Order: sequence, then C-alpha cells, then structure tokens
Amino acid sequence: MMKAISASRIFDGIRYHNDAALVWQDDVIQAITPIADLPADIEHQHYADAVIAPGFIDIQVNGGGGVMFNNDITPQAIKTICQAHRTHGTAYLMPTLISSTPENVAKALIAAEQAVNEKIPGVLGVHLEGPWLNKEKKGAHNAELFYSPTIDELNAFPWIVNAKVLVTAAIEKVSDEALTWLKESDVIVSCGHSNATAEALTEKKLSLTDGFTHLFNAMSPFEGREPGVVGTALNTDHAWCSVITDGIHVHPNSFLLAHKAKPQGKLLIITDAMASLGSKNNRFELDGQTIEVIDNKLVNAEGSLAGAHIGMDESVANVIRWGIEEQEALKMASTYPAQAMGADNLGQLKPGYRAAATVLSSQYQTQAVLVDGVLF
Ligand SMILES: [Zn+2]
Repeated sequence: MMKAISASRIFDGIRYHNDAALVWQDDVIQAITPIADLPADIEHQHYADAVIAPGFIDIQVNGGGGVMFNNDITPQAIKTICQAHRTHGTAYLMPTLISSTPENVAKALIAAEQAVNEKIPGVLGVHLEGPWLNKEKKGAHNAELFYSPTIDELNAFPWIVNAKVLVTAAIEKVSDEALTWLKESDVIVSCGHSNATAEALTEKKLSLTDGFTHLFNAMSPFEGREPGVVGTALNTDHAWCSVITDGIHVHPNSFLLAHKAKPQGKLLIITDAMASLGSKNNRFELDGQTIEVIDNKLVNAEGSLAGAHIGMDESVANVIRWGIEEQEALKMASTYPAQAMGADNLGQLKPGYRAAATVLSSQYQTQAVLVDGVLF
C-alpha cells in the first residue's frame, strides 16, 4: 500500500521541494510530488511548518534509553538504543562498542548481525571503537585492553556480511598487513584515539584508511611544525572526518575551519551518545567506572569527557546556528554518513531508495522519523 508524508518543505539530499509529499510503498521510496497531486485515498500525514530530510544516520552511538551497548551486547539493547535515538531524529545508527575484550568484540559483531536479521528498525551495522588504540589518547577507554592485532587474531573474529562494520583504530598501532586485511574484508577503517606524528601516517596507511573518528578529540593536535593526526585528517581529501557537534567537544570555530578545509561531503556529524540520551538516569557504568552528566557534559571520575549527551537533531541545529547552511547541515547528518558507510540506497529521498526520512520542525525538533517505510 502506498503511503505519504508531506510538509511545507522537503529536502531530498540535493534540492528543496515546496509543499510536497514523499510517497513510498512497503520500504521503498516511489516519488516526491506536489501535495495537490496526491491521490485522495492515500494514507497521508501532513507536517505543517516542517522540513522532511533524508533519514539521519549516526555512525557512533554507544548507548541510549538507559542502555550502554558495552554493558548489554544484544539485539535487544540495540533495539532500545535505536528507539531512544529515533526520538532525536536518527533513522539508522551504528551501535558502537567502546574498547572491550576480544570475546565482547565477537559478541558485538554477532549482535549486529542478529539485529539486522531480526529487522530491528534502525540498525545499519556495528562500530568497533578499539581496542586497537593508542594509550596516549585513551580518552575514557580502558587502555589495558589495547593491543596491536595480528592477522591470526583478526581472522578469529566472526566478521559479518549483512551489515556495515566500521572499526576505529590508531593506525600507527596497526600493521600495514592488518590494515590491508581489514580493507580486503570490507571493514571500513577510521583513524582515532591516535597519537601519531604526521610522518607515521604514511601514504600506505592513509590509502588504507577511510576516515577519522571524532576529529580533534583524542588525537595528536595540529601544530606548525607537526601537523599531527588533526592536520593529516584535514589534509587527506579522500578521508571523511566525523565530528561531535555538541559545542563542548569541539569549538564552533574549529568545526567551521574543518568545514573550509575538507572537500564537500567529507565532514559528518556524529553524537557519540551514551546511555543517558533519552533516559532519566544521569549516571551509568562503563567498565566499572561511573560516568555522570554534569552541566550537560558526560565525565568519568578522572574528569575525562566520556561521550556526549546530545541527539542528532540538536547536533544539526547547532551547526546551523554556527553558520552552516541548512541543506549542508542536513547532508552532514544523512547524505554524507550514508556515503561514508557505502550505504548506496540511503542518504537521499529518491525513487528506489530505502524509505527513510527525518521530519523536523522549523526549530529543528524531531516531529517524526520514517525507517524502512514505518513512520515513528
Ligand atoms: Zn572515542
């Protein structure tokens, strides 16, 4: 059965349509048409002063709705996290495992595979943030879990093929052979929690790297004589950079500078959200340490930032407030992460694409989210 949603504005990922409707059947987009042309009997929901955008995709989500993926590595936890983030505009996300044991890494891969098989709405894959990181830039991770993987160790994991797999690694700690193995296994590699010098980030390593994780945070800084990871990330055109845009992790001007430096399409918004998002509980456990929301910041006992307390809708609103055009901000939350994850049928509202959309009020508050043809 055909269904439709309409609004004063639709942004399809390329251009705007005024007073238009998005029409889908089952889980596939059929058309964008003027509201006046909709069949009279179509099941149809109208949002008056709103914009319909391609469904938001958040590639770094540690938790939500009171659940931390690290503490509950199951499809049920993924379901709860997706639900919590949907209320903040996220159509799809990559549940993200913070550095854990190899057993838990294996569990995370299997949980994501099961979640996709069970058609839990909103799961795009899984993000393994570590444990192949640099202890000099551990952030809130447990550095005792870090190691440099051998090919045998990589081979032993139950890699999955029905969902996207993203790995954040400090690429100076991972051999060229291991990076090549990951590339050949269709694993998306992003450099993060890295203390590399620009020299250590060789052309070979960069050619095997798809992106950089939470640009500016937990990476060696940009300096005149030493570009570090930040300078290299900004200067490596093929690689995307994800940024936490809560206004706490990264100064707005640093974000705007990154936007000037990167080719269009290579800067993405992530939340790096934790269990506290969409939950009344302001306190949760990670690896035996207590993380708490204090003044909208999530901090551990050492005072290190431990993820963010923000949703995608607010993250998009922030960058618009900082001076990014609305359409570019919407693409940073949908089109560009879809491209970064190689999700070919997401990130645009286009016939034949998966029926996924985010409906925002004129103040960028989430009104509704469409995921695979189901309106939430
Ligand atoms: Zn991190």
